[in-house]
Amino acid sequence: MEPRWLCGTETDAPMFIRRPLLGFLLTATLSIGLSPVAFAFIINPGVVHWATTASGSRTANGDPATLTWSIVPDGTSVPDGSNGGNLGPSDLIAFLDGDFGAGPGGSDLTQRPWFHLFEESFGRWGELSGATYVYEPADDGLTHSTVSGVLGVRGDLRIAGAFIDGASSTLAFNYLPDNGDMVLDTGDGTFFGNATNNHRALRDTIMHEHGHGFGLQHVESNTDNLLMEPFINTSFDGPQLDEVRAVQFYFGDANEKSNGGLGNDTAALATDLGTIALGSMVGVGSDADVPSQFISPTATDFVSITNLGDTDFYAFTVSQATQISATLTPRGGQFNQASEGGTPTPFDASARSDLSLTIFDTNGISVLASVDQTGQGVAETLAGLSLPGAGQYFARIVGADDTIQLYELELTIANAITFLEADFNTDGNVDDQDLAIWQAAFGVNATADANGDGTSDGADFLVWQQQVGSTPPFVSSQSVPEPSSCILLILAAAPLFACRRR
Ligand SMILES: [Zn+2]
Repeated sequence: MEPRWLCGTETDAPMFIRRPLLGFLLTATLSIGLSPVAFAFIINPGVVHWATTASGSRTANGDPATLTWSIVPDGTSVPDGSNGGNLGPSDLIAFLDGDFGAGPGGSDLTQRPWFHLFEESFGRWGELSGATYVYEPADDGLTHSTVSGVLGVRGDLRIAGAFIDGASSTLAFNYLPDNGDMVLDTGDGTFFGNATNNHRALRDTIMHEHGHGFGLQHVESNTDNLLMEPFINTSFDGPQLDEVRAVQFYFGDANEKSNGGLGNDTAALATDLGTIALGSMVGVGSDADVPSQFISPTATDFVSITNLGDTDFYAFTVSQATQISATLTPRGGQFNQASEGGTPTPFDASARSDLSLTIFDTNGISVLASVDQTGQGVAETLAGLSLPGAGQYFARIVGADDTIQLYELELTIANAITFLEADFNTDGNVDDQDLAIWQAAFGVNATADANGDGTSDGADFLVWQQQVGSTPPFVSSQSVPEPSSCILLILAAAPLFACRRR
């Protein structure tokens, strides 16, 4: 199949440019950036695109956003983004009806047999990021690419169709943020009508074009295939790993839209990874552990620290005192990349920001361990960290560099802790809590049976006395030894006396 151009066009340029020259304009725009290598695919890295949409506002890149999309009614005027002329009235709906069938017809476009392809295309970007895409059924038909989105009136991202250059060369073009509008070439009926792989030709085109719509320019690689390359390649489906990184640069990872858009920046808002069973592991970000930039079109487990303003908290639960190991691995991979027209050079997306990991106690405040021993591109590990008892603990990840870093976090139970006989509440240490349990069980039941004789009695208290303040050898610094004076008083008055907990 002959290669086809996919173009983005600059919305804010004082003069429109012809599509073949597009890459030069965007390259010039790029040079304003802080680091052309790190941001090769991103337009104006210091600018917050889509700070305001029809659905709300946000203050920084990495924050979530809601973007609505609508399909303009046929007959809507479609300017030519390349030269200031006009491509004529949109004929997208009639074109798609001709290619795919009209289904029941009518004004409810969600009933069209082709509608799901648009929904899936925007939805794919959404499930990979903090962006939420909502179909806006209204579109008032004002001239395409000239007006902003308004709820109930038109989408933030308006999709039109017009004859651009027929069955060759350009497939579509898209305006950069905060315009975001898309034009598909209705002269490419054969190409877009290809049903292979759930109409991947059309979906990849929509996904590529919308990549421009939220702020990506073309990228070229000679080691991997990427969605945002200038020529379409339908051998893969949708965004690849570097494009996951790119969309998360703008909108954060999918957890950033949790908690009503507050994200997971505090322990109280932590993303719950669930319970770690003995001998098992919980984790997040594993879909980024791939040998190249290729990712499955159904993979969704990608997380990142987007910039210095981002903190990610995770909660995890253990059912008893235990030891865990934690590994925080930066992801993204190494590949060659360049801006459009440039010569691709090696780029290490795994070595963008130096991440650190902190584990907090069940209160979400007390630090149990923190590790930042390595720099960019190298994993941080914690081995044999003791958790003093059952409960929900927290892991926090931050970055030291003001750019996005994909990562994978793995938490594994290394050892179950063997409890001392008088550790009646199995929290990893023998203390006044255990004494209180013994007091309650004295002569009543076997809850405080330290010597295994089936009762809770004075002999069990003697075991508690011998073990108080002790911990198993591999529990670190969690126990609080009782003062000896308190123990002596207990001996005199047990079981009626209890030390006050400190
Ligand atoms: Zn393009």
